[in-house]
Amino acid sequence: MSTNNKLAIYGGKPVRKNYLPYGKQWLDDGDIQRVVNVLKGDYLTTGPTIGMFEKEIADYVGAKYAVAFSNGTAALHAACFAAGIGVGDEVITSPITFVASANCVLYMGGTPVFADINDQTYNIDPQEIERLITAKTKAIIPVDLTGLPANLDCIKEIAQKHKLIVIEDAAHALGAIYKDKKVGSLSDMTMFSFHPVKHITTGEGGIITTNKEEHYQRLIQFRNHGITRETNKLLDNHGPWYYEMQMLGYNYRITDIQAALGISQLSKLDNFIRTRKDYAQAYNAAFRDMEQIICPAELTDRISSWHLYIIRLNFDKLKVGRREIYEALLKENIGVNVHYIPVYYQPYYQGLGYFKGLCPKAEKLYEEMITLPLFPAMNWQDIKDVIDAVEKVISYYSYGD
Ligand SMILES: *Cc1c(COP(=O)(O)O)cnc(C)c1O
Repeated sequence: MSTNNKLAIYGGKPVRKNYLPYGKQWLDDGDIQRVVNVLKGDYLTTGPTIGMFEKEIADYVGAKYAVAFSNGTAALHAACFAAGIGVGDEVITSPITFVASANCVLYMGGTPVFADINDQTYNIDPQEIERLITAKTKAIIPVDLTGLPANLDCIKEIAQKHKLIVIEDAAHALGAIYKDKKVGSLSDMTMFSFHPVKHITTGEGGIITTNKEEHYQRLIQFRNHGITRETNKLLDNHGPWYYEMQMLGYNYRITDIQAALGISQLSKLDNFIRTRKDYAQAYNAAFRDMEQIICPAELTDRISSWHLYIIRLNFDKLKVGRREIYEALLKENIGVNVHYIPVYYQPYYQGLGYFKGLCPKAEKLYEEMITLPLFPAMNWQDIKDVIDAVEKVISYYSYGD
């Protein structure tokens, strides 16, 4: 074997000199100028830029209302509050997600129930949802993993049949399309995150979009300690200074500084997504014919926004496990990742009584998945490096013919 093919993990030359992360923000001078303008203005928080950002996101996704929060997790918490989730209520979600999708239920005293995934899309399986519905079920939190929308029509139908609220975790799916409609107007409430690895960033930040006025009002109040100053909502009125705290809310406000960054970033979103798609297609073209790798599913009725590119390893064709391949790719300076460890594997959830074996398909997927770098600030050389590294590592660990 030539020295070029010797894996970096065994002392060979890595495919690239410097480390390539799996995700990263794209900021330019225009973004910085928008933020500076707010810093020089009158309002750092609770000012007019927040409403402008909310209106732009609502318009972009085609929803009536949007309420921005300090982060996506706070937004999910608020959505669970607005949905009226409380002690004794069950909420069905996917185990293959970030812990926040289930933690928001725990914050309200509710019980997360994990439904297994579909093997092709890696999203929650509607049949599994139906199987788990009880008299206590109150809501469903589907996750649009990687930016590929979940089976939203089926989920909506189940929700209507059983009078459940759907809170869509679309942290990965800003700009994704389901049956010709943008994600963000299709569920009762939809959450987007603006963490730096997501499609657009505000540093930290999140938003709920909804078409329901009732949810909108509760979200607004929850974000600000449960306080209202709206005279038509007050139970009493002592004068112009008067406000009432009518429910237990939090300080989950976003700042005008962040909102300014969000507005500037949103103007670039469609270009960001186009670049992500081009890169994902390049990965598909490179890996499609490798029998050791299963590429992400593409469905005709929905268009992914390509937040993540996940390969699934076919261990019938490989001599080692996921860990060896993962570590070898890292040594080639490719910032691989795993999205996600099943939520109920976490020690906190194990302590609540969840057990391994609960969702066999999700658990099998977890053993076989690796996330490759994908973000718009990558260039074509970066993409080529990832492809070269994957081919190098996979061919080394494959069974010979
Ligand atoms: C990022 C993310 C969240 C949480 O968003 P934050 O803004 O980081 O709080 C929730 N769910 C999923 C699937 C995510 O990827």
